[in-house]
Amino acid sequence: MASTKEKLIVHVSKEQPTGPTNKVTVVGVGMVGMAAAVSILLKDLTDELALVDVMEDKLKGEVMDLQHGSLFLKTHKIVADKDYSVTANSKVVVVTAGARQQEGESRLNLVQRNVNIFKFIIPNIVKYSPNCIMLVVSNPVDILTYVAWKLSGLPRNRVIGSGTNLDSARFRYLMGEKLGIHPSSCHGWVIGEHGDSSVPVWSGVNVAGVSLQVLNPDMGTEKDKEDWKNVHKQVVDSAYEVIKLKGYTSWAIGMSVADLCESLLKNMHKCHPVSTLVKGMHGVNEEVFLSVPCILGNSGLTDIVHMTLKAEEEKQLVKSAETLWSVQKELTL
Ligand code: NAD
Repeated sequence: MASTKEKLIVHVSKEQPTGPTNKVTVVGVGMVGMAAAVSILLKDLTDELALVDVMEDKLKGEVMDLQHGSLFLKTHKIVADKDYSVTANSKVVVVTAGARQQEGESRLNLVQRNVNIFKFIIPNIVKYSPNCIMLVVSNPVDILTYVAWKLSGLPRNRVIGSGTNLDSARFRYLMGEKLGIHPSSCHGWVIGEHGDSSVPVWSGVNVAGVSLQVLNPDMGTEKDKEDWKNVHKQVVDSAYEVIKLKGYTSWAIGMSVADLCESLLKNMHKCHPVSTLVKGMHGVNEEVFLSVPCILGNSGLTDIVHMTLKAEEEKQLVKSAETLWSVQKELTL
């Protein structure tokens, strides 16, 4: 007796098995991982999305919930498992697993807990996707990107930290609010550590190529009557404030991760402030990862834009590097 399916469908030819072409894996299905996953799905960036976590029920619930939205998506395969074989052949692996800051806790305080988690995660990712680009989001992101680079054995162009991509987005939003102009037309770069010692490059802040520091030479200093310095202070305080109010941050980091994935998967050669090995640049002598403007495409991070920083900005970047190195050199990998 023919089944309903057999009665419905006239089979024409056998499908040729093909692997995924633009697969993305998200490791860690917490607040950040899921915000990133949804943002990636809504931007139609991938033909297969894989999720991994150690909490099996949560993982199963999240994947079912996403699969139930398939009607509204163009990603035909969404899978999840705690076994890393589900991640095989990923182009990009986004790592969001690990402990997050509690109210008032600094990012650097999370380091040893998350290094231990990375010792398990990173070799498993590489085992199943040796050609992937790894995008590290877990905090402290700059140190954990260094850790992921060391543990993975991948070349430096394929281990990238989300870094100050989010801090710069926050800066441009706040700048836009001050000027009444959309953030995409407000150009400003926050570089260095993602976190408390990040560096706002006031000398480069502009709208339509017009330097705001030329218009207001006191910009970014204590003397400035318009208190632009406070824009950067608000950026630094942002995560603390959102965590105090809702317990975690998720949407902006999720969207910024999808923005980075878009540049990687679509080979856009777009320039983003992301965390990379900066030894030898701007007077940094240690093996640390910090954010500087980087070009992202299919091969990962191919180029770094050498910013024309003022001496004071370079000094702050070196200080940022020293802060990270003081924590990093104590780690046992
Ligand atoms: P969360 O607690 O909601 O989720 C973390 C998830 O990681 C949990 O589901 C947990 O089960 C999972 N996990 C723990 N150990 C694991 C392992 N060994 N393998 C797989 N999964 C594991 O936390 P969150 O709010 O989603 O934050 C995640 C990380 O992202 C934190 O480190 C946080 O500080 C960081 N973060 C970074 C940025 C940034 O700009 N880089 C922004 C926000 C948050």
